[in-house]
Parts: sequence; structure tokens; C-alpha cells
Amino acid sequence: MDLIENLREMKEVLWVNPNYEPFEKVYPHLEIKKEDVIEAKERFKRFEPFIKKAFNLDSGIVESRIEEIHNYKSWYENEIGQKIDGKILLKRDDLLPIAGSIKGRGGVYEVLKIAENLGIQHGMLNIEDDYSILLEQRFKDFYKKFTIQVGSTGNLGLSIGMISSRLGFNVVVHMSIDAKQWKKDMLRANGVNVIEYKEDYSKAVEMGRKESEKNINSFFIDDENSKDLFLGYAVGGLNVKEQLDGMGIIPDRTHPLVVFLPCGVGGGPGGVLYGLKLAYKDLVHCYFAEPTHSPSMLLGLATKKHNEISVFDIGLDNKTQADGLAVGRASGFVGKFIENMIHGCFTINDEKLFYYLKGLYNSENIFIEPSSLAGFNGISLTKNLYTEVFPYYMMWATGGSLVPESERKKFLQMFA
Ligand SMILES: *Cc1c(COP(=O)(O)O)cnc(C)c1O
Repeated sequence: MDLIENLREMKEVLWVNPNYEPFEKVYPHLEIKKEDVIEAKERFKRFEPFIKKAFNLDSGIVESRIEEIHNYKSWYENEIGQKIDGKILLKRDDLLPIAGSIKGRGGVYEVLKIAENLGIQHGMLNIEDDYSILLEQRFKDFYKKFTIQVGSTGNLGLSIGMISSRLGFNVVVHMSIDAKQWKKDMLRANGVNVIEYKEDYSKAVEMGRKESEKNINSFFIDDENSKDLFLGYAVGGLNVKEQLDGMGIIPDRTHPLVVFLPCGVGGGPGGVLYGLKLAYKDLVHCYFAEPTHSPSMLLGLATKKHNEISVFDIGLDNKTQADGLAVGRASGFVGKFIENMIHGCFTINDEKLFYYLKGLYNSENIFIEPSSLAGFNGISLTKNLYTEVFPYYMMWATGGSLVPESERKKFLQMFA
């Protein structure tokens, strides 16, 4: 297969999904329904008073804005020597509360659901209550009896750690070798038990799962298989329609919404894709972006082997500066769920991440973390697929607002 050869050589590739099918045909076979996503949205809503108070925010809404990035567009047109029809939009999940990344959706959601279920089961909470009561000491004393564990390359651990510790849970975060020091420091400062591994993401998840199984009062947040994580992310996709409607942006057949989503294990982009599909059906086209060193979702989808193949099997090393995307083996659950809904996947080399990082920063004064830039290769790679139509392009910025100043400086100097 030529594609595998190109992946092995770490070339930037675009894979267009030959198994794409119209949404109406796929939907009846899916095990997660629109009602489930709406239920998740309502659960987030119940927690708004808690989140607002717990994190001292103006609002407890876990959502981010969408911006049109005119100046970036001008810069980019100049770089490629070509005009782009239509708008380039940036989805600012880098600004999400609590986690400063897309993990503020899935990770936070799953912990909220655990907290709510425990509260209800033990007769302490009723869904009619004002959930700011969760800040009372009696709830902290109660949640203290339970442990939440997770394996992560950094951001999921950060999100789970911040929300769980605020509720009063014991939290153990199993961090892979890729995890940045500042993320571990921030968690430890918040009373989270951080365990570090010399191996990659898959090992951290495996160890988290094992440790959690030893304790009946421990919940394992399973990044590879969790439907709750997926649902939390899906709310973000569903909410896009209301936001774009408000901006007067109404996709149609000649103006599809083309969305580029950085992909690690697949839950974040997979959930968002599903929410977007529920809102826009075939008018939205989703592409996942991965580093050339870690194209695990592309590999799983293209070979249909999903989690039965890893990037190591084709000789890659899974070493990338895009720490949030350093995943060698994708989620089988997500791969199978989206296999007929995703338009395609592409890869980006690490140097390009910093090229776009700097381009976005210089043109818009917006800093996002390296993983967040993976989708920025999408416009040029998919250009030939959109000759007769005029897409609204949306780059999903997946993280960055918590990155310390010293790290930002380092990243901005990575591309000369
Ligand atoms: C986790 C993460 C992603 C991808 O999400 P997955 O669920 O791992 O696919 C993308 N960008 C950033 C910054 C992340 O932290």
C-alpha cells in the first residue's frame, strides 16, 4: 500500500475516506443517540452554578467562542500566494475553563457525571438542586472516600485532576513520558497524586486501569473506551450550530463547513465530529489531523484495523512535540464509531506545527499549544477536493491558555 509507505517515510499525507456515507444512512446503526448528547448538555447545565463558584468564573458555562481570523487568512494567502474563498474560523477551545483545552469538555463531563451519580445514589443530591451546594464541606468529606484515576499525555490528566480535586475526590494521574513538567507541577500544587512513567501514553493508560481495578471505590477514566468522555466532547460539536447561526454563518451544499480537528486517541475529535454531524449532517466535513510521527487514527481507519494496529507496527516512533497527540494506538471504539462519518485524515510534520504557531501568533496575537496547530495543514491539503464549492473553514484550537510564559517563548522560537 502506497499510503503506508508514505506514512512510514513520515511524509505529510491526506487520506480521503472511501467509506464515507450519508449521515441519514449511518445514524440508525449508531449506539449513541442524539438524546444522549442532549442529556449530557443538560448535565453540564446543572453544574453551571457549581463551576462558576468553584473556579471563580463569570459564568459556569463550559463553552468557547468562535472567531473569524481575518489577519491570519491574509498572512496565509500571502504565504501560499493564493486567495482563499470564504472565511477561516477558529474555535477557541484553548480558552475553555478549568483545563485550558478541549479536555475541559470530555474529562470534566465524566467526573461531573460520577459526582452527580454518587450524590444521588447516596441521597445527598437531587437534580433539582442548585449544584453550588457541592462546595459544602459535607460533599468534600463524602467524595474524599472515592478515587478517580486516569492515564494521560498531560491535558486529560490536567482536566480530570483540576475538576476532581475541586470536588474533593482523591485523584491519581498516570502521566506518560510526553507530559510537560508544568502540567505535573500544576496538578501537584492542587493536591493531585501524579505518577510518572518512562513509557508512552498506552502504558500510562494501562497502569491507570490496573491500579484502579485494585480499589472498589476507584473510578478509572478510560480515554480509550469511555462513552461519557465522548458525550462530553459531542456537546461541543452540537453547540457549534447555535454559535454559527448567531454569526449568520449558515452552511449549505455550496458552502460546506469544513472542520479540521487535531487527533490523539480520538475521543475529543470523534465526539466533536459526532455533535457536528447531529447538527449539520452532510453539510459538515470533518478531517482529523495527526503528527507524522503518530498517525494512529489514520492508520487504524485506512487499514480498518483500528486499535489492532499501532504506529510502531509500521516503524514509526510516536515522538512528537505535539504532546497531546502523541498516541501510538487509536481508540477502537471511536474509530469504529466514526468510520463512515469522517471525511478524511491527514498528517503534519513537527516543524510545520511551529510554523503555523508563529504565523497565528504574529498575525492574530493568539497563542495556542503545538498540538492545536495540527489542523492548520488542512486547507492546503484538501484544497483540490473543494474546487466547485466554497467552504467555511474551521480550525479547532484544542489547547493553550494555561501554557506558562516561559514555554510560550520556547515554542515561538522553534521556527526560525
Ligand atoms: C487531547 C488533545 C487532543 C486530541 O484529543 P484526543 O481525545 O486525544 O484525540 C488535541 N489537542 C490537544 C491540545 C489535546 O490535549
